[in-house]
Amino acid sequence: MQILYDEESYLVKMNNAKKLSFVTLLVLLLSSTSTADAYKLDGRIWTSTTNAKSITAYSVNIPSTYIAKINNSLSDWDLLPGSSLNTGTVNYTSSLAVFDNAKFTITRLDVQSMFGSQAPAITFSVVGGNSSQIYLDDSWAWSAYFDESAKIGHLRTVVTHELGHSWGIAHPWTRTDPNMTAAERASVMNATMTVKYTPNSDDIAAMAAMY
Ligand SMILES: [Zn+2]
Repeated sequence: MQILYDEESYLVKMNNAKKLSFVTLLVLLLSSTSTADAYKLDGRIWTSTTNAKSITAYSVNIPSTYIAKINNSLSDWDLLPGSSLNTGTVNYTSSLAVFDNAKFTITRLDVQSMFGSQAPAITFSVVGGNSSQIYLDDSWAWSAYFDESAKIGHLRTVVTHELGHSWGIAHPWTRTDPNMTAAERASVMNATMTVKYTPNSDDIAAMAAMY
């Protein structure tokens, strides 16, 4: 009887130890989910933010009416709390040579035919290359609202989202845990085809982590 009792108490101690390690593991998992993994970075960070300061638009492809809105999108990301990324304004040029040599560009293209994408815009960045190109689909029209089936979008919302990709932020739904937090759902990096261009706490945390 005595031996059995000792064995039982040993088992209870073992179970408590297991419970403790499980609780510790759970806390570690929860803390990593709520901080480092709350937003999704794609690993393409500008190491020279000088190139990121000013996006170049070619006046043959980008109507002048777009410029103020693109400038507004740049300002959406300017010096967010915890980030030293100081965005500039559009370099609007009629020189093809200037445009071709620029590291950070925005232009219009038939995105659907070229890349098979239904998105209003697409962004390409080079890993470690300090360069990024944003392509606006030239079949989309821009207005104060979204109507996806009619290909009508809100330019500032789309450009602010694409700039987020240029800085190195991926879509939040692509991270390891597919269940987005409330902040992730409300972030400008969660493309929802609704007017939304002010970086929220999740976007701000991503920028602070990178810059
Ligand atoms: Zn996107």
